[in-house]
Amino acid sequence: MDIFSDVFQYVPLPFVIAWWITAAITAYLFITGIRRHFHAWSQGRPEKISGNGASRIRRLISSGLAQSKILNKKYNGLTHALLSIIGFLLLLGMFFPILEAVVGYLALLFGAGLVLLEYKRLKPTGTKLETAWEDTYVYCVIVAMAASGFLMMGVDTWAWTSPVGSVLSPIFLTLGAKTLVQLYPSLWLIHSALVFSLIAYIPNSRLMHLITSPLNTYYTPITLKGELSTPFDLKQMMETGNFDVKVGAAEIDDFTWRQKLGFDACTLCVRCTDACPATASGTKLSPMHLILKLKNLELSLDGDRHLHGDTVDPEELWACTTCRACVQECPVLIQHVEAIVDMRRHLMAEGKVDRKKRDLITSLSTVGNPYGLPSSDRAKWAEGLDVKLWGEEPEQEFLYWVGCAGSYDTRNQVVSRAFVKIMKTAGVRFGILGNEEKCNCEVARRVGEEGRFQQAAMELIELMNKRGVKKIVTQCPHCFNTFKNEYPRFGAKFEVLHHTQLISKLIQEGKLKLKNGKNQTIAFHDPCYLGRYNDEYDAPRDIVRTISSNSLVELPRNRTKSFCCGGGGGNTWYSVEASKKPSVIRVEEARQMGPNILAAACPYCIAMFEDASKALGTPETMPIKDIAELVAQALD
Ligand code: SF4
Ligand code: SF4
Repeated sequence: MDIFSDVFQYVPLPFVIAWWITAAITAYLFITGIRRHFHAWSQGRPEKISGNGASRIRRLISSGLAQSKILNKKYNGLTHALLSIIGFLLLLGMFFPILEAVVGYLALLFGAGLVLLEYKRLKPTGTKLETAWEDTYVYCVIVAMAASGFLMMGVDTWAWTSPVGSVLSPIFLTLGAKTLVQLYPSLWLIHSALVFSLIAYIPNSRLMHLITSPLNTYYTPITLKGELSTPFDLKQMMETGNFDVKVGAAEIDDFTWRQKLGFDACTLCVRCTDACPATASGTKLSPMHLILKLKNLELSLDGDRHLHGDTVDPEELWACTTCRACVQECPVLIQHVEAIVDMRRHLMAEGKVDRKKRDLITSLSTVGNPYGLPSSDRAKWAEGLDVKLWGEEPEQEFLYWVGCAGSYDTRNQVVSRAFVKIMKTAGVRFGILGNEEKCNCEVARRVGEEGRFQQAAMELIELMNKRGVKKIVTQCPHCFNTFKNEYPRFGAKFEVLHHTQLISKLIQEGKLKLKNGKNQTIAFHDPCYLGRYNDEYDAPRDIVRTISSNSLVELPRNRTKSFCCGGGGGNTWYSVEASKKPSVIRVEEARQMGPNILAAACPYCIAMFEDASKALGTPETMPIKDIAELVAQALD
């Protein structure tokens, strides 16, 4: 073949034979190593990958090849791009000498990437990696590869075309032409051996992500961000009478092959852990280490090691707020929340949960709210407000879904009243379900009680369909997400708005005239289930700007990077051991910006921040307000 005859043209036959033998050994080690990974994934549960292949290829190009998420972080993005893209081109250069001049310049950039990487390794920020010895080995081989490559450039007849070659060439020429002819094959073989040793080691190293990351990026389903997986169909089970189903992940092979591939795709980049509020607050959970443990377990040959207890501590699982910061950050699209909920499902199914979680599920089942308060008290917040029940008036457009916090929590009742005032002022025709409303069981699903969630979904969808509900508006981003993204799988066909979206629309339509409080600065905290889960960042900001022009304060971590209040994923309803609560970290962060008000748009955020504010002292310096409260105040 021309390629090989070009490569081998200055190399004596014994060297060529040695090259082929090394190549064959490398191929054997590489293929057997890769097979071990494929075997591990294939032991997982089956999963049919649905969805459009073209969309997945587009995502592979943007997330995988263009490295869009990786480039979000400038330093890491730059080093990764220099090493991966240029490294790949250099490998091509090995086989296509025609690229020699280009390769010379690329090699310089590659060397710069190595220097930057080493600087980062020696001066790490954030969480330290566990596999330092392996990184050192791989790093040394790559440095030796680069060094031998540079030396080869100096010996090459085309040395003058490359920057390093043109510097080294005159030095080598002093050795004489004969020595150079003898030196070149040895350098070439050393360089090849280093490349081969790296290739052979790929299946055992973090470089395996060169294979697993694109695969995972391709196979991760394109589903709604706010929808958790549906492990069984309760309705079908009730119809058939067959309740024989294994729920959740009891052992590593209870994850699907695609989830197991995902664990194996982790590049140990620490982005998820650096973004995780549970890690920041000193709980046992670090999403990267959790994924790493799952990966090690699936590749382990020790059949006696179990998932729960031996590998994963339940405290890690319960510390997750399902805020999705980890998934948002992960450059290879690993689905941490899905895995955590799968493991919670097993603990819940086995009854391996504490009293508070059991009480939570009991309250949801018996009185239809997590507070354990009577269902007959649900609509008491609306007394004296002349709020109509759904169906009580003709032409009602919106069902106002108050939610459990808006109905029972005295602090959030203030928000419900404010929102009613806003809708009435704007002439919105709405009604509430009153005492017929009950929890949609978003929280049950997230703590792993899938049956309770589906039961609530079936009952509420039937009720709302029977009553002719077409549009829902709610102040709770968790309810908003559930109705919008999770209920449709169970037959719901509602248009769902978050209250900030409706208020923003009413302002745009001129139906709300607000006083502009020029002197107050307002920092807005993006709730996870409104922002990261549903990409709604602008509606609340537009409202804040209307209330108080030019005085919207952006918190350092905002929009997709927003830092969770700590209340999601069920965390409001049980305690997790932590050194500093996420809400305290967030309120401190907000106070440093010095706004007059910290605004949010979620009952959990308001409750968590108010507690944190009281704990930190002088809560009056930065009151916590829901957007609806600010708007209602601006109406006066
Ligand atoms: S969802 Fe949030 S709390 Fe849970 S692991 Fe990810 S970043 Fe941490
Ligand atoms: S799970 Fe994703 S974000 Fe976290 S360390 Fe692994 S690759 Fe990085």
